[in-house]
Amino acid sequence: MRDKSTSSDAPAPAATETPQAPSAARKIYPIVKYGDAVLEKPGAPIKKFDAELEQLTEDMFASMYAAQGVGLAAPQIGLSLRIAVVDVTGGKNPEAKIVLANPEVVHAEGEVREEEGCLSIPGFRGYVLRPQFVTIKAQNAKGEKFEIRGENLLARAFCHEIDHLNGILFLQHLSMLKRDLIKRKIKKLRKQGEW
Ligand SMILES: [Zn+2]
Repeated sequence: MRDKSTSSDAPAPAATETPQAPSAARKIYPIVKYGDAVLEKPGAPIKKFDAELEQLTEDMFASMYAAQGVGLAAPQIGLSLRIAVVDVTGGKNPEAKIVLANPEVVHAEGEVREEEGCLSIPGFRGYVLRPQFVTIKAQNAKGEKFEIRGENLLARAFCHEIDHLNGILFLQHLSMLKRDLIKRKIKKLRKQGEW
């Protein structure tokens, strides 16, 4: 999910503040944009939890920070897998890094209508109704099961990323009118070679 604060007034975090080990050469994946079929199909469950998967999640965090996002799902880097990363602090707090392998919503409560964006649909935003609180169960990069509760932006990020793993984009939560408008604009951009 895209962080709306970074696109406007919030200063981009300096490289020195990034919690990753400075020596770790991370792969920065290009973000797949709307129109690619991988974004609209459900990902396969993660079955193998190994060093390779841990490396993938660290690369996903690095790619997400590079794109100034607060969430990134594997389909957005072209991998049809049920894994996503979330950090609503944008890399400011290492403890806020959450890996979600095979996540599922177990409880949702309340409703909040907020503007939302997506790294795969850059330049477009829309109001999406999401639960105010969600509890999800998932596995971390080591395969350990956990439950976590999120509120507001975190709840929104969880829902947005889980949607990605099911092949669902935020556009599908918009009115048909708004969705078609965005799709038309993207089509035009694509014709102009700008998408
Ligand atoms: Zn997204």
